[in-house]
Amino acid sequence: MKVFISSDMEGTAGVVDWSQCLAGQPDYDYYRGLLQAEVNAAIEGAQAAGAREFLVNDSHSKMQNLRPDTLAGNARYLSGSHKPMYMMEGLDASFDAIFFVSYHGSMSTSSPLSHTYNPRAIAEVSLNGTVVGESGINSLVALAYGVPVVLVTGDDITADEATRVNPEAHTAVVKTAISRFAADSMHPAQARDLIRTRAEAAISALADARPPRITLPATLSVMFRNPDLAEMATWITGVRRSGNTTTEIIEDDPLRLFRKFVSVVLLTRGIAE
Ligand SMILES: [Zn+2]
Repeated sequence: MKVFISSDMEGTAGVVDWSQCLAGQPDYDYYRGLLQAEVNAAIEGAQAAGAREFLVNDSHSKMQNLRPDTLAGNARYLSGSHKPMYMMEGLDASFDAIFFVSYHGSMSTSSPLSHTYNPRAIAEVSLNGTVVGESGINSLVALAYGVPVVLVTGDDITADEATRVNPEAHTAVVKTAISRFAADSMHPAQARDLIRTRAEAAISALADARPPRITLPATLSVMFRNPDLAEMATWITGVRRSGNTTTEIIEDDPLRLFRKFVSVVLLTRGIAE
């Protein structure tokens, strides 16, 4: 049994500030250790339920936050940028389950360090009318390969958001959001225990899991922080202006939809403040 793990960092118990999760900052090494322990807890829980193969796709910042030799489960490690499929690089139909570890909520929520791919460019994204964060957008790739998202770890808002698209997913809520820069976190040791338990339950219940609930053709609406960004986005084929700061993409192929969204992210990055 093969598990694909997309690991971010903002959803780790104790993390509430950018300085804690950006390489080069004094506290970064400490917090990357907490992240690594949560990733390993997810792997160990899955192993307890019979999973044997793991691919960890490091999806945070420069995507090189973990230490390969201390990954549990002899996991393979997909790291570094640029990755065309971004937070979902490496997924294919050979996987049985997907974990989103240490995820955060969307830009328009009070989830700690909330953003949707690019906080300087994107104000809000909705999928078929539902506001989604990275978990919902990344679920397009899960749908394309028919692999269920079975575990989401992070704060309470993130768990809520992820289960709108993946109703059967197990969640490990390791902190309660107070604001975009504050949270009430479990003790890291308890957070790991919870993640381990929920990962084991998620793999044990795999027979009941289903791919993400996204009706096709799907409409992805992106609200930008200013109209210049929306205008540039329409230069990509298939991206249509739907308002002063909003654009819309309608696609029947979830992979093509995700790719267009990533193209929008990369294009607008160049002019974001
Ligand atoms: Zn991140």
